[in-house]
Amino acid sequence: MATLEEQSLWQDEDGVDDEVQRMSVEELVGRTKLLENEIRIMKAETLRLQHEMQAQKEKIKENTEKIKVNKTLPYLVSNVIELLDVDPQEQAEEEGANVDLDSQRKGKCAVIKTSTRQTYFLPVIGLVDAEQLKPGDLVGVNKDSYLILDKLPAEYDSRVKAMEVDERPTEDYNDIGGLDKQIQELIEAIVLPIQHAQRFENLGIQPPKGVLLYGPPGTGKTLLARACAAQTKSTFLKLAGPQLVQMFIGDGAKLVRDAFALAKEKAPAIIFIDELDAIGTKRFDSEKAGDREVQRTMLELLNQLDGFSSDLNIKVIAATNRVDILDPALLRSGRLDRKIEFPIPDENARARILQIHSRKMNVSKDVNYEELARCTDDFNGAQIKAVCVEAGMIALRRVGSELTHEDYMEGIMEVQAKKKSNLNYYA
Ligand code: ATP
Repeated sequence: MATLEEQSLWQDEDGVDDEVQRMSVEELVGRTKLLENEIRIMKAETLRLQHEMQAQKEKIKENTEKIKVNKTLPYLVSNVIELLDVDPQEQAEEEGANVDLDSQRKGKCAVIKTSTRQTYFLPVIGLVDAEQLKPGDLVGVNKDSYLILDKLPAEYDSRVKAMEVDERPTEDYNDIGGLDKQIQELIEAIVLPIQHAQRFENLGIQPPKGVLLYGPPGTGKTLLARACAAQTKSTFLKLAGPQLVQMFIGDGAKLVRDAFALAKEKAPAIIFIDELDAIGTKRFDSEKAGDREVQRTMLELLNQLDGFSSDLNIKVIAATNRVDILDPALLRSGRLDRKIEFPIPDENARARILQIHSRKMNVSKDVNYEELARCTDDFNGAQIKAVCVEAGMIALRRVGSELTHEDYMEGIMEVQAKKKSNLNYYA
């Protein structure tokens, strides 16, 4: 049913309503003037609003520009610690100030912790909607205002720089010279338990969770660990001991935890911890923060090693040059309970490594690998590889079509010289 007001507005068939028809001329003139006035006012109002809109548009443009500039600056990586419900009205009343409720988003404030280890309270969160955030999220914040600019991808990905993840290593046992015994031992400890887990279970044998590879630098520890991952089609996760302890307090332990969590997700997986001695030295009582951090990382590693079941398709391979200083706790049963030694290659192994790294090059028939092996007495695998690379460069410089025995001999001299000037050059 129509209301009275609506009825009064109804018009007759000519389009003129009754009230108007009853009006005198003077009344009509008066009414018209009134209406004209109203139209003028409305026009002025429209103009004012248009102006305001223009001003707002410019403001938006300006702010969008500002946001763009802010977003191009490097973000500071931070963690959301907490999201708090704070009523701005209440807060304003406490402070005795007036607050425009519409202009302040009611409800959410955030506490963040930056990667520079400072904690900030943000009364205004920034560009990301509070609903999309939860404690623990990784966010990028402006380095001056700390306003949250973006939500960063899951933590694992951001930590890739400290943790190398290779889903498909391609190394082959044929790429390894002279480590037959070590290959066999690793196959038994790592490869078979991943490939034939059922057989181990049927026999009631607990496969080892991890192995320790020890020996001088450049002797193929990483290479063989990668080959194992390739053979078992496992993801290869590499952590470097020194990097773990150079990070911020608490990050080393967290990274160890993350690595194991990621390995579980990506199983079968091999976690390779290079230079384990950086975190796994014998424990000592120390008050220095750095040392405590090393211990914390080490304890977390022990914790993780104990925490996963040996039938999960995750294996830990650790490597060190300093087995003598390792904490015995790491080598206890159920942890890294197999030890495999990687010695400096002997003459036969050196000849084989020379051949392996020359496979893809155009080598003259006169190259005598046995003799070259005799001339590279205390070279490690990495240095022998360097000899091949140097020989290639020498052949290139003299614009030869193939590598000669002489090129290799010169290569040996060059690597020898670099070895003397910098002991770790090819380590
Ligand atoms: P570090 O202790 O410094 O980590 P490592 O023992 O892990 O050293 P690798 O990184 O495996 O040594 O070796 C470095 C490079 O040297 C390898 O990429 C590989 O090309 C070559 N190399 C080392 N040992 C061998 C080997 N036995 N056969 C073939 N190549 C080898």
